[in-house]
Amino acid sequence: MKILVLNCGSSSVKYQLIDSETEKALAKGSVERIGMSGVSLKQERYDGDKLHYVGEILDHIMAIENVVLVLISKNHGVIADRSEIDAVGHRVVHGGEKFTHSVLITPEVMEALKECIDLAPLHNPHNIKGIQAAMRLLPGVPQVGVFDTAFHQSMPRWAYMYALPYSLYRRYGLRRYGFHGTSHQYVAQIASEMVGRPLQELKVITTHLGNGCSMAAVKDGCSVDTSMGFTPVEGLVMGTRSGDIDPAALLHVMGQEELTLAQANALLNKHSGLWGLSGISSDVREIVEEVENGNDRAKLALEVMTYRIKKYIGAYAAAMGGLDAVVFTAGIGENSPIVRKKVCEEMEFFGIRLDEAKNSVRGKEAVISTDDSTTKVVVVPTNEELVIARDTMRLVGGK
Ligand code: ADP
Repeated sequence: MKILVLNCGSSSVKYQLIDSETEKALAKGSVERIGMSGVSLKQERYDGDKLHYVGEILDHIMAIENVVLVLISKNHGVIADRSEIDAVGHRVVHGGEKFTHSVLITPEVMEALKECIDLAPLHNPHNIKGIQAAMRLLPGVPQVGVFDTAFHQSMPRWAYMYALPYSLYRRYGLRRYGFHGTSHQYVAQIASEMVGRPLQELKVITTHLGNGCSMAAVKDGCSVDTSMGFTPVEGLVMGTRSGDIDPAALLHVMGQEELTLAQANALLNKHSGLWGLSGISSDVREIVEEVENGNDRAKLALEVMTYRIKKYIGAYAAAMGGLDAVVFTAGIGENSPIVRKKVCEEMEFFGIRLDEAKNSVRGKEAVISTDDSTTKVVVVPTNEELVIARDTMRLVGGK
């Protein structure tokens, strides 16, 4: 089967066409700046062929139509006709409490998705637009929704409830949902295969460090806690997001500087994290470069970020009553030996012993702890698109 995986953002569509037999992407690409000037469609084919088209693409329907046209084009295509697309898998950011697993899209599911808009007003409307566009352009082709939140629906209530008035949970669904679920689920599974033990018997902490960063405590294959909350702001220090802060500190600044809600939101989401602390960059590569140049603010940013991860490892080991493996994934987790080193240093009491030489790995699956480390430390490149393709195939009953 050939499965088109779509990830629709406010002004972008990322895509992959995956062959379910080989589980490899025949083509992957993105459309950026939809509805703005200089829209670009970039694609890379399995054989290295590259396409970069700049033109006018006004909305998500046009974007997906152009993607399909490129996929069937003579020069850059990978299929002869759009009828070769057997199913479409969509990344959906927020599934609320309704969606605990991936689902086949039906009219009832579309209604339920619309009910989740209030929980993720910046993301879900675009995911829904993408589904509607794909249904119009590929009529009769089954569509599947795969949720960032679904994997974390197994959390016990003491992990997901905030100690706010219970009525706010009832009224607004105010609770921890967590995100990056497909990534946490995938890397935990691969890590268990790498350490040669069934996931159902393991206590694993997965650390997804990309532009957004989150951790999960995965016990016996189920997420029992995760660091992102009602929104993706909570938890770890990220590129531009604050992660955990005293909520009253924000109220204080809002009062002092007479910030509007929108300004306060931007403060937490866009001006904080590594960027806010360092004043240099939100990118770990540039932060590390500046640390090497002796910049103290860059050093501080790295210290706060890695200390927070370390603290969560302690918390999650306690939550699970033990720890068998720590997994690093996503842009920073896969590629930054110094971040992994700072997180794992002085953790021998947890059975964590990093092998300095093995820790130099970048972008590849590897066990980076010493042979006598009782807790294994593992690097696993994430592949959220593959999880979406697998779930899609399973739900449409294909091979
Ligand atoms: P997204 O969350 O958008 O999917 P990624 O998982 O691609 O993001 O992660 C992007 C981040 O990964 C960048 O901001 C950068 O900080 C980090 N990164 C990428 N490559 C490296 C590298 N070689 N060394 C350190 N950090 C890296």
